[in-house]
Amino acid sequence: MPMMVSQGRPVVSATANILLLGGTTEASALARALAGRDLAATLSYAGRTGQPRAQPVPTRIGGFGGISGLVAYLRAEGITHLIDATHPFAAQMRAHAAAAAKETGVAHILLTRPAWTAGKGDRWEHVPDIDAAIASLAGPPRRIMLAVGRMHAERFAAQGQHHYLLRFVDPPEVPPALPHHTLVVDRGPFTVDGDTRLMREHAIDMLLCKNAGGSGAAAKLAAARRLSLPVRMIDRPVQPDVAVAHDVAQVLAWLDHAEERGV
Ligand code: NAP
Repeated sequence: MPMMVSQGRPVVSATANILLLGGTTEASALARALAGRDLAATLSYAGRTGQPRAQPVPTRIGGFGGISGLVAYLRAEGITHLIDATHPFAAQMRAHAAAAAKETGVAHILLTRPAWTAGKGDRWEHVPDIDAAIASLAGPPRRIMLAVGRMHAERFAAQGQHHYLLRFVDPPEVPPALPHHTLVVDRGPFTVDGDTRLMREHAIDMLLCKNAGGSGAAAKLAAARRLSLPVRMIDRPVQPDVAVAHDVAQVLAWLDHAEERGV
């Protein structure tokens, strides 16, 4: 594969054909960077959000059909680089991407935000997964800000004694089947002042969330700290054992080096 050199360093060539698995702000930022470098890239969405943001690269929407479907897609489209920028809790997609890249020999990297860690003044209690989070809520009614995403919110009906404050990106077609809840539709960006106000307005006494990491969703944690609220933190699922980048610059460097290695 030809290698181009720019300002003394190798850059990924025009023969690269990148599949970027998205659904996150990191994926959108990377899509902008790839478009800025004139690299061929397709951004893939699962199709969970009604109106994804406009992107500077072509997009495709919907599952691939498991590992074998993704393998077939990588081969049919002649993908050379697979960049998995899905959410840290998209465990199935991440596992499929790792398996399909291994099977096809396509160069593969995971772009993921570092996990949040508790600091001074935080009152976090960790739970390993959604089931444990639900079980941990047995007890008298509370007013809980539930930030686990639309897909999982209704499972908390198993602890229906609580009042849940939900915040979704899109209005749901059917109201969530939680006996006591308030739904706010907002795509952000969220601020510490805004989230503090929201928690006060709804008399929230606990925050339950996933350890998504990143800055976009961190305002609620700072707000909880400010209000001295307990946080029930769902830890991340196990990540596949693959190359990892934490920001766009690291992915671009990896692309250059993948090219250098002749991947
Ligand atoms: P998941 O459970 O890991 O994946 C379930 C299935 O959805 C996958 O097997 C795949 O279907 C399809 N899929 C997932 N991501 C895809 C993508 N980027 N492009 C094409 N197909 C995709 O995923 P999830 O947790 O439901 O997340 C779905 C999407 O929402 C991802 O794009 C993720 O980045 C985003 N997201 C997730 C969370 C979260 O908390 N989980 C939060 C924010 C955003 P096939 O097996 O048919 O290929």
